[in-house]
Amino acid sequence: MAVDSSISSSSEKHATALQFIEDMTKNADSVQQKVLAEILTQNAETEYLRRYQLGGSTDRDTFKSKIPVITYEDLQPEIQRIANGDRSAILSAHPISEFLTSSGTSAGERKLMPTIQAELDRRQLLYSLLTPVMNLYVPGLDKGKALYFYFVKSETKTPGGLLARPVLTSYYKSDHFKTRPYDPYNVYTSPNEAILCPDSFQSMYTQMLCGLYQREEVLRVGAVFASGLLRAIRFLQLNWRELVHDIATGTLNSKITDPSIRECMVSRLKPNPKLAEFITSECSGEKWEGIINRIWPKTKYLDVIVTGAMAQYIPTLDYYSGGLPLACTMYASSECYFGLNLKPMCKPSEVAYTIMPNMGYFEFLPHDPTSASLLSRDSPPPRLVDLVDVEVGKEYELVITTYAGLYRYRVGDILRVTGFHNSAPQFHFVRRKNVLLSIDSDKTDEAELQSAVENASKLLREFNSSVVEYTSYADTKTIPGHYVIYWELLVKDPGNGPTDEVLNKCCLAMEESLNSVYRQGRVADNSIGPLEIRVVKSGTFEALMDYAISRGASINQYKVPRCVNFTPIMELLDSRVVSVHFSPACPHWTPERRR
Ligand code: AMP
Repeated sequence: MAVDSSISSSSEKHATALQFIEDMTKNADSVQQKVLAEILTQNAETEYLRRYQLGGSTDRDTFKSKIPVITYEDLQPEIQRIANGDRSAILSAHPISEFLTSSGTSAGERKLMPTIQAELDRRQLLYSLLTPVMNLYVPGLDKGKALYFYFVKSETKTPGGLLARPVLTSYYKSDHFKTRPYDPYNVYTSPNEAILCPDSFQSMYTQMLCGLYQREEVLRVGAVFASGLLRAIRFLQLNWRELVHDIATGTLNSKITDPSIRECMVSRLKPNPKLAEFITSECSGEKWEGIINRIWPKTKYLDVIVTGAMAQYIPTLDYYSGGLPLACTMYASSECYFGLNLKPMCKPSEVAYTIMPNMGYFEFLPHDPTSASLLSRDSPPPRLVDLVDVEVGKEYELVITTYAGLYRYRVGDILRVTGFHNSAPQFHFVRRKNVLLSIDSDKTDEAELQSAVENASKLLREFNSSVVEYTSYADTKTIPGHYVIYWELLVKDPGNGPTDEVLNKCCLAMEESLNSVYRQGRVADNSIGPLEIRVVKSGTFEALMDYAISRGASINQYKVPRCVNFTPIMELLDSRVVSVHFSPACPHWTPERRR
């Protein structure tokens, strides 16, 4: 009886969710109009909107003519005041409940996104649409469990006492997640205690242990991003012996000291020598190809984001999973959750996200090389396009207005329209603007790389040497991946050139200069490996230019690419490497912000 009622209540919930998606996407424009009016009405008395003399208007035309299109840097003074404790209605009429720390950085530190309590409900609403959509394509997910590797990250307080933490940490620690009602379609193998443990080793160890114990029940394996799932596989490679010991004996590794994990694991740990033997036989061999299917044989798909920078991990995921389908279910950020993939089992290259019109007010800045100049101070405001007016095949930068108090804020994502679901457009995620290198959630731009090279090359001065040219590459062949920087040096006094030790220190000096998300990945998450400098023979970058010109580049306009990933270029560079250096230590990182 109980089972029947849970099935019927699930199918009712799913039908309601699907109907909601239909309603929102059929009425996308009127929903957008309503959302904008709601945001502007709620926040009419905020300092920000009053400054632009909206005078209580809530229509699009007035809004577009009076409110400027901005970036995070434009909003810094307001954000700083909120962080310092100013509780007046600066951006939002509702109290700012906390800051969400974005993986996008400003001046080397994570951006702080103010949020309000009600946004949690809006995020929850988007999450609640994912399973009903998936259920259309993959039946029977209520007959087993999900092995999802989810983690919380460290949190800090701003000088004014507001919490600052990543959006997923905020979500996992919320009652929405912790006290979620039983849902047969979303039963996780990981206990909340493991997900909520701030120590990444203990959290991962426990989640993996639980996943191994329940291997026969697992129907899907996932993490938020592809890099996270590969980290879990690497963790298994490194720690399977200890995990097997625990399974064989029914005890918990003494490295797991978190009291709430220890308490919740007591009832779950039973000696299971047969399982221990099986894991040993699978993990002790050289061959890790298809390991996911062998250990979790009922897995139907991997639930991980492999769009954008994460696409670099698709071949590795295919290797470990024997080519299981990869489901990219949603598109979201700290600023706002945007939308979902209505065909989650499609190929990664075909993923299109449908932005849900109820999540915020969305505008689109046509993306072309001249669009940057349109935003100079003296020129008229750029012409932004509304959600329903975007054109198939064109690229746009996403600009959002949110309930939490961002108005016409440039997110920095470039999207291409692939089609429509009803009147709501669907977008291919093209790339994040200005990102050169990314391994995990780190996003290193050209300016950051340049200043890191400059800082590191100071160490070369006493050897009368300098960096004449450089380029970079995100090496994701190993797990965790790492940054590779190719350096061509000018050594004026070859008898007294920089030693290996100095070049190793240069690696560390570069890491010290990179942003806090990078350093956190190195220090706390172990999601990024030590930075590598490959010194190439003198003349290499000229050869690189010759190669580019032979392929049609103009001599006048040729610029050294600051990041490379084209195989012939990599081969050219690698064939001229004279020495290889790695960072000898972790860079400095603490949860506290530097400023
Ligand atoms: P954060 O501010 O740290 O939450 O990061 C949000 C950013 O992650 C977005 O603006 C995108 O650049 C990226 N992102 C989020 N979801 C996806 C997705 N499904 N595919 C590609 N990139 C994504």
